[in-house]
Amino acid sequence: MNHAAASATTNRFLADTHEVTNVSRELQDYNLYAQDLPLREAVTREGAAWADARLRQFGAHVGTADYLELGTLANRFQPELETHDRFGNRIDLVRFHPAYHALMKTAIENGLHGSPWSEPGPGAHVARAAKCYLHSQVEAGHGCPVTMTFAVVPALRMQPELAAQWEPLITARTYDPRNVPVAAKKGITVGMAMT
Ligand SMILES: Cc1cc2nc3c(=O)[nH]c(=O)nc-3n(C[C@H](O)[C@H](O)[C@H](O)COP(=O)(O)OP(=O)(O)OC[C@H]3O[C@@H](n4cnc5c(N)ncnc54)[C@H](O)[C@@H]3O)c2cc1C
Repeated sequence: MNHAAASATTNRFLADTHEVTNVSRELQDYNLYAQDLPLREAVTREGAAWADARLRQFGAHVGTADYLELGTLANRFQPELETHDRFGNRIDLVRFHPAYHALMKTAIENGLHGSPWSEPGPGAHVARAAKCYLHSQVEAGHGCPVTMTFAVVPALRMQPELAAQWEPLITARTYDPRNVPVAAKKGITVGMAMT
Protein backbone atom coordinates (compact mmCIF):
# COMPACT_ATOMS: atom_id res chain seq x y z
CA MET A 1 0.00 0.00 0.00
CA ASN A 2 1.47 3.39 -0.97
CA HIS A 3 1.68 6.37 1.45
CA ALA A 4 -1.48 8.12 0.16
CA ALA A 5 -3.53 4.95 0.39
CA ALA A 6 -2.26 4.30 3.91
CA SER A 7 -3.17 7.85 4.94
CA ALA A 8 -6.63 7.48 3.46
CA THR A 9 -7.31 4.50 5.65
CA THR A 10 -5.82 6.01 8.83
CA ASN A 11 -7.10 9.57 8.48
CA ARG A 12 -10.79 9.83 7.73
CA PHE A 13 -10.54 13.57 7.02
CA LEU A 14 -7.79 13.03 4.44
CA ALA A 15 -5.80 15.88 5.99
CA ASP A 16 -2.59 13.89 6.20
CA THR A 17 -0.82 14.54 2.90
CA HIS A 18 2.93 14.35 3.13
CA GLU A 19 5.78 15.15 5.46
CA VAL A 20 7.09 18.69 4.84
CA THR A 21 10.88 18.54 4.77
CA ASN A 22 11.88 21.55 2.66
CA VAL A 23 11.05 24.41 5.06
CA SER A 24 12.41 25.37 8.46
CA ARG A 25 10.61 24.70 11.74
CA GLU A 26 9.08 27.32 14.03
CA LEU A 27 11.66 29.20 16.09
CA GLN A 28 10.05 28.70 19.49
CA ASP A 29 10.58 27.28 22.97
CA TYR A 30 13.96 28.95 23.37
CA ASN A 31 15.36 31.61 25.67
CA LEU A 32 15.46 34.90 23.74
CA TYR A 33 17.97 36.35 26.18
CA ALA A 34 20.22 33.38 26.91
CA GLN A 35 20.85 32.67 23.21
CA ASP A 36 21.62 36.33 22.42
CA LEU A 37 25.31 36.67 23.22
CA PRO A 38 25.73 40.28 21.92
CA LEU A 39 22.78 41.38 24.06
CA ARG A 40 24.11 39.65 27.16
CA GLU A 41 27.54 41.22 26.62
CA ALA A 42 25.98 44.66 26.13
CA VAL A 43 23.87 44.37 29.27
CA THR A 44 26.97 43.60 31.35
CA ARG A 45 29.19 46.12 29.58
CA GLU A 46 26.65 48.93 30.01
CA GLY A 47 26.16 48.44 33.74
CA ALA A 48 23.13 46.18 34.12
CA ALA A 49 24.79 42.88 35.07
CA TRP A 50 22.55 42.91 38.16
CA ALA A 51 19.59 42.32 35.82
CA ASP A 52 21.07 39.24 34.16
CA ALA A 53 19.08 36.66 36.15
CA ARG A 54 15.73 38.37 35.71
CA LEU A 55 16.42 38.97 32.00
CA ARG A 56 17.18 35.28 31.64
CA GLN A 57 13.86 34.47 33.31
CA PHE A 58 12.02 36.96 31.10
CA GLY A 59 13.72 35.62 27.96
CA ALA A 60 12.62 32.07 28.76
CA HIS A 61 9.03 33.14 29.42
CA VAL A 62 8.56 35.18 26.24
CA GLY A 63 10.27 32.56 24.06
CA THR A 64 7.78 29.78 24.72
CA ALA A 65 5.61 28.66 21.82
CA ASP A 66 2.41 29.72 23.62
CA TYR A 67 3.77 33.16 24.37
CA LEU A 68 5.07 33.77 20.85
CA GLU A 69 1.60 32.84 19.58
CA LEU A 70 0.22 35.91 21.40
CA GLY A 71 2.10 38.13 18.96
CA THR A 72 0.57 36.34 15.99
CA LEU A 73 -2.95 36.56 17.43
CA ALA A 74 -2.65 40.22 18.43
CA ASN A 75 -1.80 41.06 14.83
CA ARG A 76 -4.28 38.74 13.15
CA PHE A 77 -7.27 40.07 15.07
CA GLN A 78 -7.32 43.82 14.59
CA PRO A 79 -8.71 46.18 17.24
CA GLU A 80 -12.26 47.44 16.66
CA LEU A 81 -13.67 50.82 17.62
CA GLU A 82 -17.15 50.80 19.12
CA THR A 83 -18.31 54.40 19.15
CA HIS A 84 -21.72 53.64 20.75
CA ASP A 85 -23.31 50.87 22.77
CA ARG A 86 -26.44 49.17 21.46
CA PHE A 87 -28.65 51.74 23.21
CA GLY A 88 -27.02 54.63 21.38
CA ASN A 89 -24.83 55.88 24.22
CA ARG A 90 -21.42 57.16 23.19
CA ILE A 91 -18.72 54.85 24.60
CA ASP A 92 -15.65 55.17 22.32
CA LEU A 93 -14.45 51.72 23.31
CA VAL A 94 -11.62 50.05 21.43
CA ARG A 95 -11.88 46.28 21.65
CA PHE A 96 -8.55 44.48 21.46
CA HIS A 97 -7.96 40.76 21.19
CA PRO A 98 -7.14 39.11 24.55
CA ALA A 99 -3.64 38.35 23.20
CA TYR A 100 -2.92 42.07 22.96
CA HIS A 101 -4.04 42.58 26.55
CA ALA A 102 -1.82 39.68 27.63
CA LEU A 103 1.19 41.34 26.00
CA MET A 104 0.38 44.68 27.61
CA LYS A 105 -0.01 43.01 30.99
CA THR A 106 3.44 41.44 30.73
CA ALA A 107 4.96 44.74 29.59
CA ILE A 108 3.44 46.76 32.42
CA GLU A 109 4.07 44.18 35.14
CA ASN A 110 7.71 44.02 34.07
CA GLY A 111 8.16 47.77 34.05
CA LEU A 112 8.81 48.19 30.34
CA HIS A 113 6.73 51.36 30.59
CA GLY A 114 8.61 52.99 33.46
CA SER A 115 11.02 50.97 35.61
CA PRO A 116 13.90 53.51 35.26
CA TRP A 117 11.59 56.19 36.67
CA SER A 118 10.21 54.16 39.59
CA GLU A 119 13.47 52.27 40.27
CA PRO A 120 16.28 54.54 39.09
CA GLY A 121 19.92 53.53 39.43
CA PRO A 122 22.98 52.46 37.45
CA GLY A 123 21.95 50.36 34.46
CA ALA A 124 18.21 50.94 34.98
CA HIS A 125 17.70 52.18 31.43
CA VAL A 126 19.86 49.38 30.03
CA ALA A 127 17.86 46.69 31.82
CA ARG A 128 14.59 48.17 30.67
CA ALA A 129 15.84 48.55 27.08
CA ALA A 130 16.94 44.90 27.04
CA LYS A 131 13.49 43.75 28.12
CA CYS A 132 11.85 45.97 25.50
CA TYR A 133 14.16 44.49 22.89
CA LEU A 134 13.14 40.97 23.88
CA HIS A 135 9.43 41.72 24.06
CA SER A 136 9.35 43.54 20.73
CA GLN A 137 10.52 40.29 19.12
CA VAL A 138 7.19 38.80 20.17
CA GLU A 139 5.10 41.75 19.01
CA ALA A 140 5.96 45.32 18.02
CA GLY A 141 2.61 47.13 18.06
CA HIS A 142 2.09 47.11 21.81
CA GLY A 143 5.48 48.82 22.02
CA CYS A 144 3.79 52.02 20.92
CA PRO A 145 1.68 52.65 24.04
CA VAL A 146 4.41 51.20 26.24
CA THR A 147 7.04 53.53 24.75
CA MET A 148 4.77 56.56 24.86
CA THR A 149 3.98 55.89 28.52
CA PHE A 150 7.68 55.54 29.26
CA ALA A 151 8.63 58.67 27.34
CA VAL A 152 6.07 60.98 28.89
CA VAL A 153 7.60 61.02 32.38
CA PRO A 154 10.61 63.31 31.73
CA ALA A 155 8.32 65.77 29.96
CA LEU A 156 5.81 65.68 32.81
CA ARG A 157 8.54 66.27 35.37
CA MET A 158 9.14 69.67 33.81
CA GLN A 159 5.87 70.57 35.53
CA PRO A 160 6.23 69.03 39.01
CA GLU A 161 2.61 69.48 40.11
CA LEU A 162 1.42 67.51 37.05
CA ALA A 163 4.07 64.85 37.63
CA ALA A 164 3.00 64.47 41.26
CA GLN A 165 -0.56 63.90 40.12
CA TRP A 166 0.05 61.51 37.21
CA GLU A 167 3.35 59.72 37.77
CA PRO A 168 2.11 57.18 40.36
CA LEU A 169 -0.56 55.99 37.94
CA ILE A 170 1.82 56.02 34.97
CA THR A 171 4.54 53.99 36.66
CA ALA A 172 2.17 51.58 38.46
CA ARG A 173 2.85 47.92 37.66
CA THR A 174 -0.85 47.18 37.22
CA TYR A 175 -2.30 46.89 33.75
CA ASP A 176 -5.85 48.20 33.93
CA PRO A 177 -7.52 48.09 30.48
CA ARG A 178 -10.99 49.00 31.77
CA ASN A 179 -12.77 51.80 29.92
CA VAL A 180 -13.48 53.79 33.10
CA PRO A 181 -12.70 57.35 34.25
CA VAL A 182 -9.08 57.86 35.23
CA ALA A 183 -10.00 58.31 38.91
CA ALA A 184 -11.08 54.66 38.98
CA LYS A 185 -7.93 53.37 37.28
CA LYS A 186 -5.20 51.39 39.06
CA GLY A 187 -2.73 52.15 36.27
CA ILE A 188 -2.78 54.10 33.03
CA THR A 189 -1.01 54.31 29.69
CA VAL A 190 -0.38 57.65 28.03
CA GLY A 191 -0.46 58.86 24.44
CA MET A 192 1.79 61.56 23.06
CA ALA A 193 -0.05 62.30 19.80
CA MET A 194 3.22 62.70 17.90
CA THR A 195 1.89 61.27 14.64
C1 LIG B 1 6.61 50.13 17.45
C2 LIG B 1 6.29 51.52 17.92
C3 LIG B 1 5.34 52.25 17.25
C4 LIG B 1 5.02 53.54 17.65
N1 LIG B 1 4.07 54.24 16.97
C5 LIG B 1 3.78 55.51 17.34
C6 LIG B 1 2.82 56.28 16.62
O1 LIG B 1 2.24 55.83 15.62
N2 LIG B 1 2.52 57.53 17.05
C7 LIG B 1 3.15 58.08 18.14
O2 LIG B 1 2.86 59.21 18.47
N3 LIG B 1 4.08 57.38 18.83
C8 LIG B 1 4.41 56.12 18.46
N4 LIG B 1 5.33 55.40 19.17
C9 LIG B 1 5.89 56.00 20.39
C10 LIG B 1 7.02 57.00 20.08
O3 LIG B 1 7.92 56.43 19.16
C11 LIG B 1 7.74 57.34 21.39
O4 LIG B 1 6.78 57.76 22.32
C12 LIG B 1 8.76 58.46 21.16
O5 LIG B 1 9.70 58.05 20.20
C13 LIG B 1 9.46 58.80 22.46
O6 LIG B 1 10.32 59.89 22.19
P1 LIG B 1 11.63 60.20 23.05
O7 LIG B 1 12.31 61.33 22.40
O8 LIG B 1 11.26 60.34 24.49
O9 LIG B 1 12.51 58.86 22.99
P2 LIG B 1 13.25 58.23 21.73
O10 LIG B 1 12.53 58.51 20.46
O11 LIG B 1 13.50 56.80 22.12
O12 LIG B 1 14.63 59.03 21.67
C14 LIG B 1 15.66 58.84 22.62
C15 LIG B 1 16.98 59.02 21.88
O13 LIG B 1 18.05 59.07 22.83
C16 LIG B 1 19.11 58.27 22.34
N5 LIG B 1 19.90 57.83 23.53
C17 LIG B 1 19.54 56.97 24.49
N6 LIG B 1 20.51 56.85 25.40
C18 LIG B 1 21.51 57.67 25.01
C19 LIG B 1 22.78 58.00 25.57
N7 LIG B 1 23.22 57.47 26.70
N8 LIG B 1 23.55 58.89 24.90
C20 LIG B 1 23.09 59.45 23.74
N9 LIG B 1 21.90 59.18 23.18
C21 LIG B 1 21.13 58.31 23.82
C22 LIG B 1 18.45 57.14 21.61
O14 LIG B 1 19.32 56.56 20.68
C23 LIG B 1 17.28 57.86 20.93
O15 LIG B 1 17.63 58.38 19.67
C24 LIG B 1 5.69 54.10 18.77
C25 LIG B 1 6.66 53.38 19.44
C26 LIG B 1 6.97 52.09 19.02
C27 LIG B 1 8.05 51.33 19.76
